Amino acid sequence: MSKLLPIEENEQIVGYFFDCPGCGMAHAPYVQPYKNEVGASWTFNGDFDKPTFAPSILAKIERSDGKAMVCHSFVVEGKIQFLGDCTHALAGQTVDIPEQN
Ligand SMILES: [Zn+2]
Repeated sequence: MSKLLPIEENEQIVGYFFDCPGCGMAHAPYVQPYKNEVGASWTFNGDFDKPTFAPSILAKIERSDGKAMVCHSFVVEGKIQFLGDCTHALAGQTVDIPEQN
């Protein structure tokens, strides 16, 4: 079982998707300096069952109604620690990353 889905580019793993139960999207921390839009890269502990990424993951998603949704978290040992600036219902809570199907 794995909580992560590798993102491959030119047969090299450049990052990982995981499903976020807070905002309902997938987050994609990149571990290689890559042509990603955010221009950042994260460290990964290499554990697909209890992943840790650093630094924190911050996503701002424009919604169709014009309001921005914020999802900001630390991912530590397979758990997502949602920070207080999240705009979704799991702000301030810590939850397990769901298993990938
Ligand atoms: Zn999220």
